[in-house]
Amino acid sequence: MAIKSIAQRWFINSFTVVLVILVTIVAASGVLIHNFYYSAVRQALKARASTVSSMMMRYSSGIVSSNFYSEMRNYIESFPDKDYMELMAVDPYGSVSITSSGFSYTDKRDRMPDYNEALISADGIGFYVGELSNGQKIMAVTQIVNIVNSEFSAMRFVVSLETVDQVIFTLVMGIAGISLAVLALVLVSGLLFVRSIVRPVREIGTAARQIARGDLKSRIVKVSEDEIGELCETINSMADELENSERLKNEFISSVSHELRTPLTAIKGWAETLMTVEDDPPTLKKGMRVITAETERLSGMVEELLDFSRIQDGRLRMNFQKMDILAELGEAVLIYTEKARQEDIDVTYNEPEMLPFVYGDKNRLRQVFINVIDNAIKYSDPGGSVKIDAFQRGDSILITVADSGIGIDPEDLPKIKTKFFKANYSRRGSGIGLAVADEIISMHKGSIEIESTPGVGTTVILTIPTEESAETAEGRGQ
Ligand code: ADP
Repeated sequence: MAIKSIAQRWFINSFTVVLVILVTIVAASGVLIHNFYYSAVRQALKARASTVSSMMMRYSSGIVSSNFYSEMRNYIESFPDKDYMELMAVDPYGSVSITSSGFSYTDKRDRMPDYNEALISADGIGFYVGELSNGQKIMAVTQIVNIVNSEFSAMRFVVSLETVDQVIFTLVMGIAGISLAVLALVLVSGLLFVRSIVRPVREIGTAARQIARGDLKSRIVKVSEDEIGELCETINSMADELENSERLKNEFISSVSHELRTPLTAIKGWAETLMTVEDDPPTLKKGMRVITAETERLSGMVEELLDFSRIQDGRLRMNFQKMDILAELGEAVLIYTEKARQEDIDVTYNEPEMLPFVYGDKNRLRQVFINVIDNAIKYSDPGGSVKIDAFQRGDSILITVADSGIGIDPEDLPKIKTKFFKANYSRRGSGIGLAVADEIISMHKGSIEIESTPGVGTTVILTIPTEESAETAEGRGQ
């Protein structure tokens, strides 16, 4: 279907146009050549007629009329160009009285419209192009000669147009032949061109259908360096992306399942133990503590998943208000200090006296701080340290969380804010925490930057505009 339509479009848009142009050129050149040759013959005949008639006039003035007739007969019968031109003397009654011998285009039955035209025209010249009774095509020129008491009233020159027509025909045929060759060239090159587009397009279609059917390994071989080649590359990179996101999605499902199973196993284990324990308050207390902590961890994960799904369909809403960012940061640090101590990680928080307010959602910002501090502890080994700072720089508040953990490979660094991406599978996590955090900070018109050196540590820099600068920007925006 596609092949037909591209070829058809090319045929209509290009080939037909070239065809029309060439036909016009052939027709126009035919007319021009015809006019050129006919007018050249006509000019030549006219020049000849005026030379001969003026010569006759001069001649007649010195000769008596009986001699003049025989002199004229002699001249006409021995006319030097009689091989290709017939010269006739026409009497005052309009009949041919003498004609050059050996070459006869006319007989008595043939009309002489040129003679009639010459009689009435101002310059005494008449032309005629037509066919003789024998079918021969001729051009005739009649020149009236005004000689007193003469038996001649006009001279008539007749030439055959066969040779001229032959030349015109050959020239037009030559032009038509060249045009046909051009047309054939256009046709062949056009068809090759259409084929060079249609074939890869067909292959692209096949590969795209395979990809759509789920064969994400399918790729297109790039055949050219043009737009089609570019399209192949785009489809291949689209397939790469699809394959990548399919892989990330599968890994995400497996990490989330794993993440859910760990606390569930702990809860189930402790619940079973508690059923057998009758009077052992310390064990009871410990069991309840573990169950509570693991339930909290589970609900935290479910919340993160719900947030992620809200981001995906644009339902994540912020409850903006003027807020003290230090209060939320302090709380997040407090939640993790105990955990870090248990994992032998030293957390230092250089809390500033005070910072300007920000205009934000305090629960969401606390969620971001928790995520970043959690990552810093999670990706650090026992004995490591996490250093948290908060300060103002210009119109923004900067919060830095620097750890001495495992770090991130430079090639993974640009991807870690994308959904499902996990640079390290040895630690728990779903790979969506930073994607959610990035979205929340973006909604606060801030940014998250991450600097990292593998084996040395990672620093996450959160930048959030102060309330004042947010207001000014808002005012400017209105
Ligand atoms: P996860 O739940 O897997 O931690 P995140 O979105 O929070 O997902 O982080 C994405 C990935 O970025 C992590 O899997 C981890 O590889 C890397 N990462 C994030 N923070 C740190 C850090 N402080 N140190 C080393 N790697 C980190």
